[in-house]
Amino acid sequence: MRIRLLPLLLLPLFITAAGCRIAAPHAATMPRDAVTQVATIDALLAGVYDGEVTLAELRRYGDTGIGTVNGLDGELLLLDGNFYQIRADGRVYRPDPNEKTPFAAVTFFQPQQHYPARPWTEKQLCAQIDRWAPDRNLLLAIRITGYFTRMRTRSVPAQRPPYRPLTAITEKQPEFELEKVSGTIVGFRLPSYVKGINVPGYHWHFITADHRHGGHILNFQIISGRIELQTLARFYLLLPRHSAGFAAIDLGQDRTEELRRAEQ
Ligand SMILES: [Zn+2]
Repeated sequence: MRIRLLPLLLLPLFITAAGCRIAAPHAATMPRDAVTQVATIDALLAGVYDGEVTLAELRRYGDTGIGTVNGLDGELLLLDGNFYQIRADGRVYRPDPNEKTPFAAVTFFQPQQHYPARPWTEKQLCAQIDRWAPDRNLLLAIRITGYFTRMRTRSVPAQRPPYRPLTAITEKQPEFELEKVSGTIVGFRLPSYVKGINVPGYHWHFITADHRHGGHILNFQIISGRIELQTLARFYLLLPRHSAGFAAIDLGQDRTEELRRAEQ
């Protein structure tokens, strides 16, 4: 595996404490066939980077998903019940279960369909998934375990208040180009009507098989692997009840163009 970090960030390397597996205390009582989401994408775009839900709480709603952590400190990925935080240095950390998230979406992943991957660009793969799961008005959870000739990702640097809008930060986002790499994609294809709440269409994060690199996916080319899909028809929102930032923000604006700039 050859890894090029773009740009090379001269950040001090801090290795977090040993990883933790977060227990799911009341998982049995939670609806398992649902996507559960913390806050809204438009609040994140507007700079509401501190949430109230801990990762330990979020884990009660799913074992698979994506998001970010408080202070916008990197990209979050939940895989097989374990949280991974890909920070702006391109490395993967294991966040503390008491860490909170301002935006995330999770589910208990129980794939109903699976297919082998062939050599496809991201665009070709999306078109293929659209053929396998043609109902664009339901929620689709996706996990792809595979081998990639290229995988381009990004992360975001941790912020301090007063927070700037997300596009001001992603304009200078660190990007990472991984080549000939094995790993897992986790994400969702969501309907157009989630506009303002989440990201319509495909949004996915990546982690290498050795759990050392990853990030929010910008582009990739897959060679082989396994594509697993789960269609879901329940959508739960956990909104911040005591957040001054969330309460004060104007969520009446159309932020479609901001989202397009922030996601790419
Ligand atoms: Zn993302």
